[in-house]
Amino acid sequence: MNTPTRADAHPDNLISRFEATFGAAPDGVWAAPGRVNLIGEHTDYNEGFVLPFAIDKRATTAVRLRDDSTVRLLSTSGDDGIVEANAASLIPGRAPGWAKYPLGVVWALQQRGVEVPGFDLLLDSDVPLGAGLSSSHAIECAVVTALNELTGAGLSAQEMVLLTQHAENAFVGAPTGIMDQSASLRGTSGHAVFLDCRDQSVQLVPFEAQESGLVLLVIDTKVSHSHADGGYASRRASCELGAEVLGVRALRDVAVADLQNASEVLDPTTFRRVRHIVTENGRVLRTVETLRSQGPAHIGDLLDASHASMRDDFEISCPELDLAVDTARIHGAIGARMTGGGFGGSAIALTPVEHEQDVRDAVVRAFAEAGFTRPEIFTVTPSAGAERIQ
Ligand code: ADP
Ligand code: MG
Repeated sequence: MNTPTRADAHPDNLISRFEATFGAAPDGVWAAPGRVNLIGEHTDYNEGFVLPFAIDKRATTAVRLRDDSTVRLLSTSGDDGIVEANAASLIPGRAPGWAKYPLGVVWALQQRGVEVPGFDLLLDSDVPLGAGLSSSHAIECAVVTALNELTGAGLSAQEMVLLTQHAENAFVGAPTGIMDQSASLRGTSGHAVFLDCRDQSVQLVPFEAQESGLVLLVIDTKVSHSHADGGYASRRASCELGAEVLGVRALRDVAVADLQNASEVLDPTTFRRVRHIVTENGRVLRTVETLRSQGPAHIGDLLDASHASMRDDFEISCPELDLAVDTARIHGAIGARMTGGGFGGSAIALTPVEHEQDVRDAVVRAFAEAGFTRPEIFTVTPSAGAERIQ
């Protein structure tokens, strides 16, 4: 059997690929986007604010329910071939490779009492892997949207957000929050998703960079990161320690005016971690206000300040991200910052259209001169959230 490759697996012929692979037509095709976070980093697990949006790159899944409990999974990228599992005997932490994402969704649905039969699934995704654009959540969100409909589970978008979070935390084993799924499941075209991670409420905020003569460039540094690694865990631990010493439920409850006192009772490192979260929450709120009142051309300084805070106070940047951000700014970006969990992944640069090519060329040149891997640079626009497309 031929494994379809990305190049010939355009969404238009995903259905015929599915038929050729699994011998029958899919019940439907569902897509869910990756996301980029405009601002608000590491604020999610501190019950604070984030402002991601769904991007125009997505995971597309053709799915057909089966009469037995066999699950067969095939991706158009990679050479794993078909992965088989039994929906009736899933064990957290045991699923191999990318299968853990769809199987985690199945397991989490079962935990909610939803009966999930076996199914065949063909995945095709153009969300770059490991670039901090949440290719893994795009898969989970496409699969939960498909299975929610096919099983008649009837979950709301918000329930699917929490369900995929449970899948990530308890089945995949990654201690992630709700930002990525909220953007993928609740995003809409032309808007960023302003999410309050405490009450989980969402407000859609207009973000039409193009109308202001701007593009949002993503600079994928190609440096790999892992959310499960020690850096992420230690930042979370510092935030929890800070909240405990300051006597608050979460750092969301610390105001800028409290920082003076915080500097006196916290050790210097914990204080800087706390200061990043407190100031970052303020920057998210100001970005939302600014987008609503003045538009994207006025948020550059907030993006720059966010990067400085992550670099100096939270210490989650790296030389590649700093070089991308600094070079983009020098060559015309009005604001730039690393995005995602840090320690690699991508930077974003809000750039006037007339400087786009300059920024692209300069960043590639600077990376070559520094001896870094050539970065991948592309634009993203706020796009539709998860949906059935066939
Ligand atoms: P991110 O979500 O930031 O892109 P992760 O490390 O969380 O990075 O997720 C990347 C993982 O998602 C890959 O290692 C792979 O298991 C899975 N994945 C993403 N896209 C695909 C795809 N098209 N086919 C198969 N697996 C994929
Ligand atoms: Mg991921």
